[in-house]
Amino acid sequence: MSSSLFPTFDHDHKLCSQNLMTYAEGHCKHLGLRFTHLRRDVLSEVAASHKAVGAYQILDRFASQGKKLAPISVYRSLDFLLDAGLIHRLESTNSYFACQRNFEKDSPCCSFEPLVFLICENCETIGEIDGQTLGPLIEQFVDQSGFAPKRSQLEIKGVCSLCQASGHQELEKTC
Ligand SMILES: [Zn+2]
Ligand SMILES: [Zn+2]
Repeated sequence: MSSSLFPTFDHDHKLCSQNLMTYAEGHCKHLGLRFTHLRRDVLSEVAASHKAVGAYQILDRFASQGKKLAPISVYRSLDFLLDAGLIHRLESTNSYFACQRNFEKDSPCCSFEPLVFLICENCETIGEIDGQTLGPLIEQFVDQSGFAPKRSQLEIKGVCSLCQASGHQELEKTC
């Protein structure tokens, strides 16, 4: 397992956030997308950790900073960030997390399907693995049923390597 899949508990998360914001800036510019202040602020909240956050948690955080926003504004920004491939949505919990894999490739990882997310039930960190090799297998199975698939996303729950190594302690992972 690559060490970057699940960042260590003491990693410099400021660097993750900075890299992500810089990437997002360039990515939007490249595609001619408007990276407004609100979209930037929403991304920055989602990217505040490697855990998933819900839209209302984001609204609460904004409110605590004195920014009162309508839920629809946050949802619109989240939709924009999803479409731009900068964040992902966990369908099981309707929450969002920042894609950390974009820096590995020239193209956003979301152009590859299925998306495979590994969700640690102990520290709540989400790791993303390349599901490209699974694509043909899934297609084959689905073809047999006559179903016409549009997109696939796998959410696998378990315990990350770091939590296993630490004996599943209740770790207060802040990022
Ligand atoms: Zn980080
Ligand atoms: Zn963990």
